[in-house]
Amino acid sequence: MSSEETKTDVILIGAGIMSATLGTLLKELVPEWKIKVFEKLSNAGEESSNEWNNAGTGHAALCELNYTNEQTDGSIDISKAVKINEQFQVSMQFWSYLVNSKLIHNPQNFIRRFPHMSMVRGEENVTFLKKRYETMSNNPLFKGMEFSDDREKLVEWIPLIMQDRPLNEAIAATKSDSGTDVNFGALTRMLFDHLKNTNVDIKYKHSVENMERHNDGSWELKVKNLDSGSVERHSAAFVFIGGGGGSLHLLQKSGIPEGKQIGGFPVSGIFMSCNNPEVIAQHHAKVYGKAKKGAPPMSVPHLDTRYIDNKQSLLFGPFAGFSPNFLKNGSMFDLVTSVTPNNVFTMLAAGAKEMSLTKYLIQQVMLSKEQRMEELREFIPGAKSEDWDLVTAGQRVQVIKDTEAGGKGTLQFGTEVVTSDDGSLAALLGASPGASTAAHVMLEVIQKCFPQYMKEWEPKIKEMIPSYGESLMENPELLDDIHTHTSQTLGLSERELAFS
Ligand SMILES: Cc1cc2nc3c(=O)[nH]c(=O)nc-3n(C[C@H](O)[C@H](O)[C@H](O)COP(=O)(O)OP(=O)(O)OC[C@H]3O[C@@H](n4cnc5c(N)ncnc54)[C@H](O)[C@@H]3O)c2cc1C
Repeated sequence: MSSEETKTDVILIGAGIMSATLGTLLKELVPEWKIKVFEKLSNAGEESSNEWNNAGTGHAALCELNYTNEQTDGSIDISKAVKINEQFQVSMQFWSYLVNSKLIHNPQNFIRRFPHMSMVRGEENVTFLKKRYETMSNNPLFKGMEFSDDREKLVEWIPLIMQDRPLNEAIAATKSDSGTDVNFGALTRMLFDHLKNTNVDIKYKHSVENMERHNDGSWELKVKNLDSGSVERHSAAFVFIGGGGGSLHLLQKSGIPEGKQIGGFPVSGIFMSCNNPEVIAQHHAKVYGKAKKGAPPMSVPHLDTRYIDNKQSLLFGPFAGFSPNFLKNGSMFDLVTSVTPNNVFTMLAAGAKEMSLTKYLIQQVMLSKEQRMEELREFIPGAKSEDWDLVTAGQRVQVIKDTEAGGKGTLQFGTEVVTSDDGSLAALLGASPGASTAAHVMLEVIQKCFPQYMKEWEPKIKEMIPSYGESLMENPELLDDIHTHTSQTLGLSERELAFS
């Protein structure tokens, strides 16, 4: 066993979309900073960011019914949808800047336009969807959204879903043509290629095993070279824990008080993938339905056209599942070892509170293929079992923490940025809305950890993200400019219609 020691400005742990985005932002803001990346697998974007491990939806709240709530007075609260749409616009502007500046190329290899649709059945749901559409279509962010409960129109929009459907069934949908399918795996790999070209030192098959803070505030990481078995020591002034499901254990090892009472609960995802080209060719949209009662928000069923490796495919799901692993390539002891004396009461409280989730997950795990087909048939009544295969997607680790609103052991469904008080360490936990909002979330990391540089960096941030610091909802002219510009740069203006 040999030992190596180095010092650098920034260490990014994990080569997923989050580290890729933060590294790229920092390289634009301070090109002279030295950055190192440690990734335990042999390539970038192999865990949740991989194209087969997530649904590839550019979450802009154009179709996800769980981002809007019906209030007791019957009105629809769209504040969450507004927030997520604004965050997605930040990613779109950043990707557009990268393409324009020739830092990444061929945007069609990571982003395509496909209509985003919400689809509901039953009178009550149709009334809800219509009301939701009326509220949303008045907002500039959702301009262009269409609603229909007319069968002929629906046959035109979603022929596969309308085939063999009872004539007396109440059904309605909304459609936004500006939706996207994003290959986050391809994007992650492109960003890491770019980082390599800017002399970022990327070490694959290097697992970060431990970390401790030096007296001067910098961090020393113990890193295992998985090829040679040697242990290396690497120090940095700033560390970002972008380990996806692996982040919680690393945060706990850092020992910062901000991470002590946090726990995690893994939820795995399973999709059904269509193997019949004739069926695949009949659907050209991402169609989101309504979650079943008691189902967690990440298991909202959707039927998605995907575009991966220049090939169109069709996926349905996700079905939730339970595996104690925190990463797809993780260990079955991940959940057990994440329970520490600091978070044990938070975890126990969550266990008692979330019995219905546990019951739901057990039911989901027990589903046979034919039972999963029955759920698919709510979308495609004539779906045949032989046309569909099961594929295992990525792991999500939902954050559990004590909150004022929810009390002890509250399960969180969003993303959490945890930072040390001196800003020398940041960790990203949770996975929703996920990769779509990477640029917004990594800007949040920068704001929290480098407040002393924000004034100096602001002009460059505005060059990359013209809407930075502004509300697009309140500035429709800027929104229009941004839409036109990002559509042109990312090649989304006309090409998408060729697929619909
Ligand atoms: C089923 C499913 C569907 C989803 N659908 C969508 C969607 O439609 N749209 C969307 O925007 N988001 C979606 N997401 C969420 C999205 O995939 C994630 O938010 C995003 O990929 C997380 O990126 P990351 O960089 O944080 O983590 P990851 O991509 O998981 O990367 C973390 C990396 O860290 C490495 N690592 C971990 N521990 C260590 C260590 N100790 N040392 C070195 N390396 C380490 C891992 O090997 C991995 O490569 C989905 C997720 C799932 C699971």
